[in-house]
Amino acid sequence: MELTPPSRQPAGSLDPAGSSASGGRQPRVLSSRGLAIVCIAVAVLAVLVIAFAGAHPGGDAFSHPVALAVLTVLLTYTHVRPTRLVHRHGGVESDHLDEALFVPMVLMLSPVEVGAAVTVASLVGNLVVRRAAVKVLFNVGQTVLACLTGYAVARAGGAGPDESITPMAMVAGAVGGLVFAALSSVAVATIVRLATGHPLFRGLWEQWRSRELSSFGALLFGVVAGVAVREHAWMALPAIALGLTVERAYVAVVVQRQARLAAEALREAVVAVRSSDDPEEVREQVLASAKTVLHAREAVLVDPTTPCPPGALQANLEDTTLQVLDRIGGGTWLDSERSALSTLATVGSAALRNARLIAHMSAITDSQSEGVLAIDAAGVVTFANPASQRLVGCEDLIGRVADQVFGLTGHDGPVDLTALAGSHSGTRDSDAVLLAGDHRTPVSFTATGLPEPQTGVVLVIHDITERKAFEEKLTYLAFHDPLTYLPNRRLFEDRLDHALLLAERHHTTSALLMVDLDRFKLVNDSYGHPAGDSLLVQVAHMLRRSLRREDTCARLGGDEFAILLEDVADVHHATSIAQRILDALASGCIVDGHELFVSASIGIATSDQAGSREELVAAADAAAYMAKAAGKAQYRVFAPEGAENPRARLELEGALRRAIDHEELVLHYQPLVDTITGEAVGAEALVRWQTPDGLMAPYSFIPLAEETGLIVPLGAWVLEEACRQAQEWTLAHPELPPLEISVNLSAHQLSRPNIVGEIGEVLERTGLRPEQLCLEITETVIMRDAEAAISSLRQLKRIGLQLAIDDFGTGYSSLSYLKQFPVDVVKVDRTFLAGLGDNAVDTEIVAAVIRLAAACGITAVAEGVETVEQRALLEEMGCPLIQGFLISKPMPAEDFATYWATEAPLLLPSPRP
Ligand code: C2E
Ligand code: CA
Ligand code: CA
Repeated sequence: MELTPPSRQPAGSLDPAGSSASGGRQPRVLSSRGLAIVCIAVAVLAVLVIAFAGAHPGGDAFSHPVALAVLTVLLTYTHVRPTRLVHRHGGVESDHLDEALFVPMVLMLSPVEVGAAVTVASLVGNLVVRRAAVKVLFNVGQTVLACLTGYAVARAGGAGPDESITPMAMVAGAVGGLVFAALSSVAVATIVRLATGHPLFRGLWEQWRSRELSSFGALLFGVVAGVAVREHAWMALPAIALGLTVERAYVAVVVQRQARLAAEALREAVVAVRSSDDPEEVREQVLASAKTVLHAREAVLVDPTTPCPPGALQANLEDTTLQVLDRIGGGTWLDSERSALSTLATVGSAALRNARLIAHMSAITDSQSEGVLAIDAAGVVTFANPASQRLVGCEDLIGRVADQVFGLTGHDGPVDLTALAGSHSGTRDSDAVLLAGDHRTPVSFTATGLPEPQTGVVLVIHDITERKAFEEKLTYLAFHDPLTYLPNRRLFEDRLDHALLLAERHHTTSALLMVDLDRFKLVNDSYGHPAGDSLLVQVAHMLRRSLRREDTCARLGGDEFAILLEDVADVHHATSIAQRILDALASGCIVDGHELFVSASIGIATSDQAGSREELVAAADAAAYMAKAAGKAQYRVFAPEGAENPRARLELEGALRRAIDHEELVLHYQPLVDTITGEAVGAEALVRWQTPDGLMAPYSFIPLAEETGLIVPLGAWVLEEACRQAQEWTLAHPELPPLEISVNLSAHQLSRPNIVGEIGEVLERTGLRPEQLCLEITETVIMRDAEAAISSLRQLKRIGLQLAIDDFGTGYSSLSYLKQFPVDVVKVDRTFLAGLGDNAVDTEIVAAVIRLAAACGITAVAEGVETVEQRALLEEMGCPLIQGFLISKPMPAEDFATYWATEAPLLLPSPRP
């Protein structure tokens, strides 16, 4: 046995350049203490040998030339071709089987010859494998000393070249051989342990045992062969032949065993390399495994362009080159080692690619906002990305039973995660609620079954809290008004249908209130849309506050609100609510720092009055219209004897028709006067119906006349009568300026194709000058089809008539429209006059209209002036003309004639100052 620094423990080497395979730990160089022990041991042995040689000179130094030559050759052969023994747990040593030649040497050679043979053989053997000088020296020294010590023991027991062969001599030879083998082993083990710092005796027995059989066998063979050759020299030939055959067989067995060990080591290395999913760890594992499997002192990863150093073995590891250097025990690389390295490199490359892939996948899943989880067939979580742990609120999900940590509840109940993982194939996709602890998170999840042969699922869970909230918001907005958050028309109609159904089923009554703000448009125009919006929001609050919880208040659009009162005792409940709303509105709102008063016209209808939703809405609308026509800021309950009752309606229609034919209509005249002087400048003709019950006001029959088209003959009569009367007065009072007469023109009349011709004929028949006639058209009529209206107005202007916009401020036209209309007069609606001075909006609106009219060269007339305060304010604002009860109510023709004669300014020869 010789010193061959092994790759692992009890590994070590006299050569400090070698590195331990167990992870870069530098082996210790032989310590000075160790060196001293070695020197002392060698010295003691040398003294013993010299003393023995002196006591047993054994004849001439070289007296057995043939035996010496043959044994030296054989001994050298065993040293040159040692068997490389690799131990299961590391450690490499060279096995020489030189024990076989020990007894023959004892029986046939003198001490000097033995020393010479062993020295030559050991020297040649060590030199052939090119060991370092110090190792050669040590190996040769210890071999020679161990051999000679064993020789001395054998000689002491009576064995020797000149002794006769007795059983005692054979035992002595064998004992000497054992001493030789033991000393040699102990010497090598000791030096290695001293060099590496390993405990002296650990692993010694194991190392010994691994070759005791071969050692012992070789020794016994040597005893038999030695005795045989001593008896008959010719026995040398068969003995050598047998020895070589057995040696070859032994080598074959060893090689096979080594191959098995190498395969095992390679398998372990492959498992180790593949078990890692970190690229850096994989590389380290490959390097460590390469050293272990190939029993090399060094393994490195270098750039592929680096040349391969002599004696190194290399293979490609992905984009680097794996080099294995410094084979332990020297010698050239075996084919099995080459293929082991290539296997290792291939596995390592695959593991690296895998590790990189896993690193990429983890980077992807880590950065994903979706939770990604893998659950095996037993329901245990095997993978969880950070997002999934956040979602579930558990940081160590992996390894836990999914069902015990969180739950998913879909549309059709809780999802059994274990069952899902156990049976799942294909993909399942649905919305669910994730339950984890106290948290409930709306999620959508996809469960994808793992492909065969794996079982389990991959769950991708997406937090859809925001989407759900958005959807809810969308749904909410689909049924609510985004400004006031009140139900919109769609939802309201739905509720109305439902209420009507219940009312019918349970014989109860529901009431519908249509709330229409008066002149809201002007708030927008005067204060801007944000102010208008703010007002609507406040009105919505007021409405809500006036209602019970179960009542529905909706905004149908613009300034139109609707209220549904379910299960009311009678209509008085509805009217009390309407009054409450009017009172609430009268308390005013603060918008943009201004106190605004807004009123509403409210129409009320009950479910008893209608058969369907449409009829109920129409009835409430009609009632609201009546409230508006009656002067706004009030409510009206739908009266079925009006438009609703077809018979009453037909009767009224017939009566009106007869009234037109039988001249039951009369005209009253209301003066228009100069605001400052109070002098009358004209009159507005207003129709009344002289019925047997008394005079009927226009709002009781004009809407019906409009609806039925009777307004056309009625309007024609009014026009003719007004022109006739005006011409009569003009002729009667030539000293007065010509009377200007204003006549209301309905939409029907305006849209007649030959209206200009018809009016021209009236003027011609009556003789009235066109400039004396002023036609009043309401703003709503013009706004309904502004373009058509403007073109009709232009034609009327062409024949020299005066034109007025009536009820200005109610038609939602913007103030800026005013200058586009070819009109001479604008009549500010009388509802604005009510708030003049008290209501900031009204006051501002009136002022704005007056200013704008003046700027456009249009004469402003304020209608419905009832108080001196109003008049004073109007005067201050520069309103040129006024009309209203303060001056006079509309009066019959004869009264007006008298009034005119006294109040009209005289026509003076020179212009008045
Ligand atoms: P309008 O054209 O705005 O007429 C002015 C209305 O205001 C008149 O009502 C008049 O009596 C009323 N009025 C005048 N001064 C005051 C006041 O100081 N306070 C109050 N509270 N009211 C005042 P009337 O005569 O009942 O007419 C109502 C509406 O009927 C008219 O409103 C007009 O739109 C329509 N109308 C009347 N006569 C005719 C007509 O011959 N043809 C057409 N198409 N419509 C007519
Ligand atoms: Ca009028
Ligand atoms: Ca008017």
